Amino acid sequence: MAAEIRTFTCLNDNFGYLIHDVETKATASIDAPEAGPIIKALEREGWQLTDILITHHHGDHVGGVAELKQKFNCRVVAPHDKTTKIANVDLRVANGDVVKVGTLLGRVLETPGHTLDHVSYVFDTEKTLFAADTLFSIGCGRVFEGTYPMMWDSLLKLRALPDDFKLYCGHEYTASNVKFALTVDPDNAALQARAAEVARLRAENKPTIPSLLGDEKRANVFLRADEPAVAARLHMKGADAAAVFGELRERKNKS
Ligand SMILES: [Zn+2]
Repeated sequence: MAAEIRTFTCLNDNFGYLIHDVETKATASIDAPEAGPIIKALEREGWQLTDILITHHHGDHVGGVAELKQKFNCRVVAPHDKTTKIANVDLRVANGDVVKVGTLLGRVLETPGHTLDHVSYVFDTEKTLFAADTLFSIGCGRVFEGTYPMMWDSLLKLRALPDDFKLYCGHEYTASNVKFALTVDPDNAALQARAAEVARLRAENKPTIPSLLGDEKRANVFLRADEPAVAARLHMKGADAAAVFGELRERKNKS
């Protein structure tokens, strides 16, 4: 493997991620919730920050950009401007663009819904997906700016990636997501297995990330809104998948 990934906590429950190209020593931070923990993680490894890949404009994803850019003079990559208020950007990207981090190639997938500008970064060779606040383990982001059909389409784009890809998401929300999912999907054996694993990891104070996309496809009810059994459980037999997804999201909001 030519890439190394480091995972750490920023703010309360945001994940910080570094992806490092062993060959060229280029290192990208995926989002920048706050500068301090990112600088510490870089110092621990002896890495220099060359790039920041931003997924969306929320403050808990861009709060550290200005300080990191000043310190490292790194390149800042952000979604193409639609609604966006992201400052200090060197390169704007849109769906299908490929961002180079040294020799590593990050493919941009537009995944709007949580915000209108949200993108995910897919490193195909490394089988790695950075989905930020679109797809969480056993959950998904709140739909703040887009619509339920828009968010469902975005989740379908991520679901289309191979089962052996690893999911790195924006927040440690897995335990809360599991608790909710068990209320609407209690008989799902894959979910039950994930629930046990998450309880063990949290008890050991370990992150629940990454998870395998194949496991998410089986255990994450938000990726299964087009399954008749899920619609039936919500008393929505025959309903449109996006409507079923919307109902799931509404119930989670109230949970
Ligand atoms: Zn967000």
